[in-house]
Amino acid sequence: MPEGDTIFRAARTLNRALAGRTVTRFESVFPALTRIDTDTPISGRTIDRVEARGKHLLMWFSGPIVLRTHMRMNGSWHIYRPHERWQRPHRDMRIILETDAFHAVAFNVPVAEMAAPDALARTRQIHDLGPDPLTEDFRAEEAAARIAARPALEIADALLDQTAIAGIGNVYKSEVLFAARVNPFASVAELAPADIERLIAIAVMFMRANVVEGTSPAIETYRGLRRTTGRSDPGARLWVYGRGGKPCRRCGSPILRRRQGPHARSTYWCPRCQGTGRDEVSGSGPQKNRAPLDRTR
Ligand SMILES: [Zn+2]
Repeated sequence: MPEGDTIFRAARTLNRALAGRTVTRFESVFPALTRIDTDTPISGRTIDRVEARGKHLLMWFSGPIVLRTHMRMNGSWHIYRPHERWQRPHRDMRIILETDAFHAVAFNVPVAEMAAPDALARTRQIHDLGPDPLTEDFRAEEAAARIAARPALEIADALLDQTAIAGIGNVYKSEVLFAARVNPFASVAELAPADIERLIAIAVMFMRANVVEGTSPAIETYRGLRRTTGRSDPGARLWVYGRGGKPCRRCGSPILRRRQGPHARSTYWCPRCQGTGRDEVSGSGPQKNRAPLDRTR
């Protein structure tokens, strides 16, 4: 699933290709979008900008009117030159937006809505979003306060809660917890304020490192290779995510994997660096869930 950094890079790529250009053709398989396009045509409008808000991608058209899309598991936006061959089958097309220079195509995007900016701002999906580490006005204290306000949640689930902090997905969840040496199954209430601050600082560092210029492929906007270890060879990009059974990069213990939370998302962690899980966590109290911050690269 695309996480905040992926959406940020996609928005940047789309913005570069589309901003300031006039829409020459708009087509969608979503009846709601087609209706709006019939009533107030998108064709002929200028694309003002494309931006990411958490895991949402917002396209601003003159009017103004905003197209919000969410990729969920398999959605993606591609940019093509006119007449360039698509890299995905036509049956996966959900939205086409053409300008004279570029065509933007949304494939398998499951969520798309068009609204006036003030109506969009009032929607639950946008209004309730927590602070986004990839925005310039990110406030770490507010993110920390929102996480602390969810004491009963396990910390891994709190990090995924988009209304607490926006943009963290399942990969960063495990990576950030490992780097901070916090047990994923500890409840927020069991953590010290310094643990939460450290988790947020690491999340900001990892996510920002992955949107540095040059990490984004030009065309395929959703296959950027995420990394948190600071190493670039494909087998060494991540600390724990997807590495169940493999040796911990710090201590050599086998990395464990367990389904966690209401959506049974996979959590990867090192039992030695981060504790073995709920039983030990509840038996040992918060002090033993913490380990000193170590070098992460
Ligand atoms: Zn370890």
